[in-house]
Amino acid sequence: MSEVTIFGLGLMGLAIAKAYQKEGIPLTVWNRTIKKAEALAAENVAVAQSISDAIVASPVSIICVDDPNSVLTLFGQSQVEPLLDGRTIIQLSTCLPKQVREDLSWLVGRHADFLYGAIHCGPQDLGTKDGNILISGPPSTYKPVEGLIGHLGGQINYLGDDIAAASTLDLAWLSTRFGEFMGMLHASNVCRSEGIELQKFIAMFPDDARIQHHVGTIRDGTYDQRTATLSVWQASLELLKQQAIDAGIDAEFPNHVGGLFEKAIKAGYGEEHVMALFKVLKGDEGTVA
Ligand code: NAP
Repeated sequence: MSEVTIFGLGLMGLAIAKAYQKEGIPLTVWNRTIKKAEALAAENVAVAQSISDAIVASPVSIICVDDPNSVLTLFGQSQVEPLLDGRTIIQLSTCLPKQVREDLSWLVGRHADFLYGAIHCGPQDLGTKDGNILISGPPSTYKPVEGLIGHLGGQINYLGDDIAAASTLDLAWLSTRFGEFMGMLHASNVCRSEGIELQKFIAMFPDDARIQHHVGTIRDGTYDQRTATLSVWQASLELLKQQAIDAGIDAEFPNHVGGLFEKAIKAGYGEEHVMALFKVLKGDEGTVA
């Protein structure tokens, strides 16, 4: 019997597995493409050949896959459902608030406990002091696994009973990032159109690391950095659009920003730094309109 099962061994799932390995926690892993999981077998990690085997291997299962509907994708088969009884499922894949509420209700119907966590750091930060996760769900579910989750990072922020709180705050945080991007892009274009060097604008914010870095990226044209790409940001923008539809709120902001992202991706900048959006803003050089 292991202490925890990890479903998904992509960049993030693998980082979760490594963080537990580092702590010597008995671990089972499952991945849709089994080859990725087998690479860990040599390192004393149990590799489950089926979803059923993976669930029964541990009292707690963590999901981290690129599928917001993964609770149902993985566990919605008739032979799997009964195995959920009495187990704790922690969903760390990025999901919308509506999805998380539906997953809770579905799992409660199968007598399983459920927590949702939004990972707010890169894979390299998990298992370090910079590992940052917002997590929510019933306190009676959280308490017994608090130590287990604590191994994933120094910044675990438990938000209480409302299962959708972590997902909602994750989206709200993302929204502020898009607001910053748009403000910095337009400010840079204002400077460009009036012949003011970007460095003069940057110098107005000596303590703002984001303006220093992002507007500095435009100033230097260093769009080929190895970081979250413009396409990755666009995927999270799609979530903001969908949340607005689900909740029936105004979608003008994500739709407007989305138009600019689509233009940039069409122009071939999807794999570049998000500030490559600047290259599709209409400006003096008559770049893509
Ligand atoms: P990734 O490297 O692209 O890996 C994707 C993983 O999801 C693979 O293990 C893949 O299995 C699995 N998968 C996708 N669809 C599946 C399905 N329908 N059924 C079963 N398995 C499926 O992605 P990642 O970076 O690990 O991201 C995983 C989650 O973490 C996402 O929700 C992402 O938003 C979130 N996240 C990632 C980061 C980051 O910096 N990477 C940061 C915060 C949050 P195969 O190997 O079989 O393809």
